Amino acid sequence: MIMQAVILAGGKGTRLGDLTKDIPKPLIPIAGRPILEHLILLLKKNGITDIIVCSGHLHEQILDFCGDGKAWGVSIRHSIESTPLGTAGPIIEARELLDDDFFVLNGDVFVDMKLPPLMEFHQNNRALATLVVHPSDHPADSDVVLMDNDSRIMRLFHKPGRDVGSDVCSAGLCVLNKKAVALFPKGTVMTLEKELISRAIDAGQVYGYSTAEYLKDMGTPERLRSVARYCENKARGIAWILDRDGVINEELSTSKIVHLLDASQFRLIPRAGEAIKLLNDAGFFVVVASNQPAVAKNLCTEEDVHSVNSRMEKELARYGARIDAIYICPHHPEQGHPEANDPKYRKDCECRKPKPGMFLQAARDLGIDLSLSTAVGDKTSDILAGKNAGCKTILVRTGYAGEDKKYPVQPDQTAQDLYEAVIHHA
Ligand SMILES: [Zn+2]
Repeated sequence: MIMQAVILAGGKGTRLGDLTKDIPKPLIPIAGRPILEHLILLLKKNGITDIIVCSGHLHEQILDFCGDGKAWGVSIRHSIESTPLGTAGPIIEARELLDDDFFVLNGDVFVDMKLPPLMEFHQNNRALATLVVHPSDHPADSDVVLMDNDSRIMRLFHKPGRDVGSDVCSAGLCVLNKKAVALFPKGTVMTLEKELISRAIDAGQVYGYSTAEYLKDMGTPERLRSVARYCENKARGIAWILDRDGVINEELSTSKIVHLLDASQFRLIPRAGEAIKLLNDAGFFVVVASNQPAVAKNLCTEEDVHSVNSRMEKELARYGARIDAIYICPHHPEQGHPEANDPKYRKDCECRKPKPGMFLQAARDLGIDLSLSTAVGDKTSDILAGKNAGCKTILVRTGYAGEDKKYPVQPDQTAQDLYEAVIHHA
């Protein structure tokens, strides 16, 4: 199935001042290429090759730039508004070109997310519209949504200017069903969230797709700079590779070895969520690399470890934070545990820290440059693994705080906790 996307590229970008006087907002360069090209490349990466670009203000430049899309190996068709029609009007104008379900991207929202799961969510719900939603740090001038427990959007507040009891906002990307626009004649002047989607909400057929993936509106010069930083860091492949227990979540004990085996015992260390969100927003990969020898000791299964990790991801999502990849080492070299587990776990592996195997795997999987990356841990094995991988190392004073003293190794930096490490060294 070929998926389709509409890119709204007609905005005037008045909040960006002189930047958008002679150049349409979607053509402002970010990290070497216009936002519009970033969006086209994102669509292509997600297998979406049927693209409709709606333009108006300075549309000649948009047409010149995109052409028919062959330069990127996609198909681009153009729809041009002769008079401003609002944000939904151009979609109505392009109605003959539309599939049953299609993505709608904004020419001024930078996106780095996986799109097929969003389409699947939309179609499973048989929704008229599905808005991507996330916690926002500026809800007052965003579109705030209230959702029920089934992710159905019950209300939408357009730039409420006050606290409406939610900081979950529309992120500026949605999927629409053609029926949502079929009601309106061409030439209709209409805004997307405030009018078109609000009507679909009244019909009870709009859902919110929550994600901690990166979507950033670039409406102000400050947000534009922050997106540029994100792109530059992503392109350089800079990662923060974090130990789990004692860095992200509390150790159950540091006086004797107590393994965290049960997701209900998982407690985030204060401000760890905020710290990881800062790393996400700055464009750093966030990787977790964790020794989990309890598997080899037959105290739990790999599935148990995964369920603790899922709990971690859920807790972090409440802060809008996410982990790009999680690696665990389930092995342990010691023989002689009478209750010994499957022999495949009893070995001197390459992944158990202080060996750098998990770091090297992450570098291969994500395109990380380890020499630009930072390892954070609370044990000397974490610090030594970071050094063995060629990373900068930070010891945090949470968890074991380096008091395990198993390996004689000095970290490059120390920090009170993960948050302080990020604030001072990211
Ligand atoms: Zn291992």
